[in-house]
Amino acid sequence: MFGEEAGRRRVTLTFDNGPTPGITDKVLDVLAAHRAPATFFVVGTQLQQPGGLDLARRAAAEGHRIGHHTATHTLQLGAAEDPEGAVAAEIAAIEYDIDMLAGINEAESERLFRPNAAGGVLDKHVFSPQAVRYLQQHRYTCALWNCLPRDWENTETWVDHALADVARTNWSVVVLHDLDTGAMDRLPAFLGGLAAIDVEIVPDFPDSCLPIRHGQLQHSLSHLTNGDG
Ligand SMILES: [Zn+2]
Repeated sequence: MFGEEAGRRRVTLTFDNGPTPGITDKVLDVLAAHRAPATFFVVGTQLQQPGGLDLARRAAAEGHRIGHHTATHTLQLGAAEDPEGAVAAEIAAIEYDIDMLAGINEAESERLFRPNAAGGVLDKHVFSPQAVRYLQQHRYTCALWNCLPRDWENTETWVDHALADVARTNWSVVVLHDLDTGAMDRLPAFLGGLAAIDVEIVPDFPDSCLPIRHGQLQHSLSHLTNGDG
């Protein structure tokens, strides 16, 4: 839809590891106030918490995208002793639920997946060859990132890190976490900072962050995959 070159600077907002009752609600309020679209990469165990599913439904109903961010977020696909079992347990197990949630947003039918990269580290534990094959066969689009302000550690200063990244990048995909760390209290400051430097907040992703698109391998994943990929 968009090229990555030229034009106004863009930002894609993503919120991982939720939904979290008491936090995601506030994030949705802030996004609505700023008319900012986002993608929520949800975790199965979070959806199962009381109120979790309702929050994800609300996000979809308000026009945000819902992506799959594993069933339990406890195991890295490329570190599993039983890679096929990990694909079944961490991806396939909640696929139907995520499809239902994402389907609420009728304008968008693309299946989004984001792997669990422990501490945000993109290394060979992120994928297994079995997981890559599964994502291709099931026509996933795999959405990585290029801006990780580590909001879970830098609960106050992540805003400055993220704004500095955005200022030097044509199209930033920012990873935040709708978790109870206190970091989301600074979301209004971040969105205000983006408005001040005239950045367009968009719902889609730059090609450089999509190694798999609609099941088609776009870039080599060998650096993120154990074994031969
Ligand atoms: Zn995560």
